[in-house]
Amino acid sequence: MFMKREDIEKRILECIEKSKKYKEVGEVASYIPELSNVDKDAFALSIVTTSGDIYNFGESEKIFSVQSISKIFTLIMALKDNTIEEVFSKVGTEPTKYEFNSLIPIEQRAANPFINAGAITTTSMIFGKNKEEKFERVIELIDEMSQGGNFSFMEDIYKSEISTTDRNRAIAYYLKSKNIFDQNADEVLDLYVRICAIGANVETLARFGAVLANEGFDIDSSNLIIPQNIVQMTIAQMASCGMYETSGEYLMKVGIPSKSGVGGGILGVVPNKCGICVYSPRLDKSGNSVVGKNLLKILSADLGLNIFL
Ligand code: GLU
Repeated sequence: MFMKREDIEKRILECIEKSKKYKEVGEVASYIPELSNVDKDAFALSIVTTSGDIYNFGESEKIFSVQSISKIFTLIMALKDNTIEEVFSKVGTEPTKYEFNSLIPIEQRAANPFINAGAITTTSMIFGKNKEEKFERVIELIDEMSQGGNFSFMEDIYKSEISTTDRNRAIAYYLKSKNIFDQNADEVLDLYVRICAIGANVETLARFGAVLANEGFDIDSSNLIIPQNIVQMTIAQMASCGMYETSGEYLMKVGIPSKSGVGGGILGVVPNKCGICVYSPRLDKSGNSVVGKNLLKILSADLGLNIFL
């Protein structure tokens, strides 16, 4: 059914209003010290449709740390640079009930690409002659997907995490000990932490999501940016593994393939409709933005975005 822009905006504003009851629930991440310095009450939402309409609300220009939303970028890069078989021989595809930085879901390989062990593995599969070139290629992907969006490298976040990330260092060394990769573990870890420290605003990420929703085609030019099999696998992994150990419950209640990060962002992809990014830094115990997951649930119901309905 065709709706006027102002009517859609009104509906979205009503959804935001309903989500406000959650705005004081949860805690901002503090295990990466610099992440605790954010404005706890910050809020932003962007919806970018596959036909190019953009709906922005709140502090939509604010750059925040993408953290694990970057696991989408890394998976796409690994799948572009290697065969599907190579990638999924080193990382699994199954959800895990363990927290994102656990060493337990590493049996022969990490459970999936959206927990830390899996993303450290996919990071090791990005091509480039050194970590600077590999990082630059990730930046180029974001730039292309977001049509020159607004993003940057957040050096303070990087320094804060790299100097405290003993758990991820343990994961990187453990993976290396299992011959999942043969590069220097500290170099792979450094690139992983750098990619997590990319900052972006909600519109940039929603544009990225809109390209995935658009089967990999650029929204404006209709050029193919990402091969469709990579798009399909990425969205499928977002659906099954994107919301930490609550991915199954979230998929059942919200019905939008999504990936969250401890920076407070959640990126959702509704195939053939839109990319949606919410930012609100107070997190639940699993690491998901409380306002973010609830707003996505409300938007899904009120705007008919549930992929199963
Ligand atoms: N850089 C974070 C870490 O490795 C990412 C965690 C997340 O957003 O899930 O702990």
